[in-house]
Amino acid sequence: MRILITGGAGFLGSHLCERLLNEGNEIICLDNFFTGRKRNIAHLLDNPYFELVRHDVTEPFKFEVDQIYNLACPASPPHYQHNPIKTTKTSVMGAIHCLGLAKRVGARVFQASTSEVYGDPDVHPQPESYHGNVNPIGIRACYDEGKRCAETLFFDYHRQNNVDIRVVRIFNTYGPRMLPDDGRVVSNFIVQALQGKDITIYGDGSQTRSFCYVDDLIEGFIRLMNHPSQVGPVNIGNPGEFTMLQLADLVLKKVGGPSKITHFPLPGDDPKQRKPDITIATTELGWQPTVSLDKGLDATIDYFRNLLAEG
Ligand code: NAD
Ligand code: UDP
Repeated sequence: MRILITGGAGFLGSHLCERLLNEGNEIICLDNFFTGRKRNIAHLLDNPYFELVRHDVTEPFKFEVDQIYNLACPASPPHYQHNPIKTTKTSVMGAIHCLGLAKRVGARVFQASTSEVYGDPDVHPQPESYHGNVNPIGIRACYDEGKRCAETLFFDYHRQNNVDIRVVRIFNTYGPRMLPDDGRVVSNFIVQALQGKDITIYGDGSQTRSFCYVDDLIEGFIRLMNHPSQVGPVNIGNPGEFTMLQLADLVLKKVGGPSKITHFPLPGDDPKQRKPDITIATTELGWQPTVSLDKGLDATIDYFRNLLAEG
């Protein structure tokens, strides 16, 4: 198949490009390199079935493809809050352009949605049927509402124009190729520990997240995309739930060194708890996570140790 991956030079996108290329597909990787890096896909550039296109999804694009994975959007709070208007445009216009293309060429189109559509949830764990608790005017809204609107567009193109859609709601995912200055918690804690700097906990550290290793997530993507009828939304994430204090302790134990824990103010609208209900993924896709946080952190720490050693 010929497959378009928007945001293909980013953390998740580069793993998806690699996996689909290895399975014998032809890949068009489209990215504006806002948070993506050429080094993430450098090892794929010599492959004749891999094509890299520098382009912004807020501008229209046209390719003859069989499948489209729409991943373009900064995912880390400091990155998506850097230019919040652009973040909303990326989600909304990017979705419109992917859906318009899918409609024209008859491609199946996949949306990388997020657990952020649940906002600061008052239902725990979160099933797909939960409609969420998002503050529409807060500092996270550019991302949360952009992704919610993208889901709306996907389901309306499906109902109105019969476009063949798949929507995944991704819970916090980590692994090699996150940026060292990405700003998300796993990369922050690991890089801080490796550099002997203090570990920055926002708030009292009692807030929870559920962390999925990247390889497990990509397996879930491919199962949903190639499912004959399940359009989603489907939660993909690891239900193991940890407080940020527990995560910091685990990282410190693994890395060692002189780092101590220090506290900073909790950013606005920071969700207090998050854990996926993965009943649909397990029953419909036969998917479940296989990599524990313990093992996944080891692989991620190795990656950052090598990256920092390269300078
Ligand atoms: P990332 O920031 O590493 O990757 C995003 C990619 O999109 C980057 O390569 C970036 O350059 C590109 N991009 C951003 N704006 C663009 C634009 N206007 N035009 C073209 N390309 C653009 O983040 P990631 O973790 O790889 O996330 C990928 C997708 O998965 C995002 O849509 C994100 O919202 C979603 N997601 C990720 C997580 C997670 O934990 N990693 C959780 C929920 C949802
Ligand atoms: N966080 C933290 N220290 C950091 C970065 C993040 O304590 O250096 C917290 C953040 O406030 C949030 C959690 O860790 O409660 C997860 O943050 P991240 O940005 O990784 O993901 P998201 O909040 O989007 O789930």
